Amino acid sequence: NRQVILKLYVTGYPTVDDMEVVTGTVRLALPPGSTTAILVKNLYLSCDPYMRTRMTRHADDPNFVPDYVPGKVVLSAHPDFKPGDFLWGVTGWEEYSLIPNPVLCNKINHREFPLSYYTGVLGVPGLTAYAGLFEVAKAKKGEYVFVSAAAGAVGQIVGQLAMLTGCYVVGSAGSDEKVNLLKTKFGFDDAFNYKEEADLNAALKRCFPEGIDVYFDNVGGATLDAVLRRMRPRGRVAVCGQVSQYNLERPYGVDLFQLVGKHIRMEGFLVSEYGGEYYRRFEEEMARHLREGKVVCVEDIVEGIDAAPAALVGLFAGRNVGKQVVAIARE
Ligand code: NDP
Repeated sequence: NRQVILKLYVTGYPTVDDMEVVTGTVRLALPPGSTTAILVKNLYLSCDPYMRTRMTRHADDPNFVPDYVPGKVVLSAHPDFKPGDFLWGVTGWEEYSLIPNPVLCNKINHREFPLSYYTGVLGVPGLTAYAGLFEVAKAKKGEYVFVSAAAGAVGQIVGQLAMLTGCYVVGSAGSDEKVNLLKTKFGFDDAFNYKEEADLNAALKRCFPEGIDVYFDNVGGATLDAVLRRMRPRGRVAVCGQVSQYNLERPYGVDLFQLVGKHIRMEGFLVSEYGGEYYRRFEEEMARHLREGKVVCVEDIVEGIDAAPAALVGLFAGRNVGKQVVAIARE
């Protein structure tokens, strides 16, 4: 059973040397007497920026969450899962996972889509985009919406859902290739490369002469600071992630006084609040959008478990174009 393990806790930017691919053993058997355990063959590993926060020692941080991976049930003592079923859920960065009780696993209902979609558009990033945009930011038709890390797993779905709602949507991303993708493939109204803009305030003024109603924040830092200055009264900020801050020793100081005068509501959220029935509702709606071609997705798939450490490290340099996935088996 090949596994990616963390060798040492990380400070600053992670490197491939912080991780190691080792060969462990797995008993291809369930614990005797268990009525809930399943053995899963993992097919696709998901690379997510929040995994960086788990590479630092936070002994008392309750927000720890393991990785979400689509796989196939090999053995099962659980009444809801049969051998041969496909599922996605919390397993591990390894070929096989023995899960004592699969409470964090969901059966895969739509085999007509590639299984890798359950690491992205039909999994956590898609659900994050949907819940953040509609439950937290409450985006409505006709509003001005800005999303950062817009060509990533979450951002690309946020932008397309906002467009479908009738919003005016602008995204920022870190390369001209990504900006081109936002404008052509995903149909954003406008996009810019934040690394090429000498003045973020000027870029936002150019794209939003009338201001921003909804900011879906994936990055935090200087971008959040500039956006707050450009928000309209009673604007909403869905604080989804702060990827520009995860590797810094000292966080960027954002001017929160901007919230006061303009009655801006800024709210953080965790996708894990939106499981169960809510996920199933989202899954059906997103499956319909995909079938009808109203939402498309871009994935960046690398092959083999040995490629996993570099793929994860690449997220913090923006090397991924779209959802970063590691394929370790096809079925
Ligand atoms: P992405 O696919 O967007 O990958 C990360 C991207 O972040 C990179 O491609 C890069 O794009 C950008 N980035 C990296 N470093 C910086 C930086 N210093 N400044 C600005 N941009 C940077 O990842 P996800 O879509 O999976 O995640 C997006 C955000 O959503 C993250 O902050 C993540 O933590 C958060 N998240 C939150 C959840 C929740 O429950 N609240 C659930 C899932 C994700 P570029 O080339 O554009 O710089």
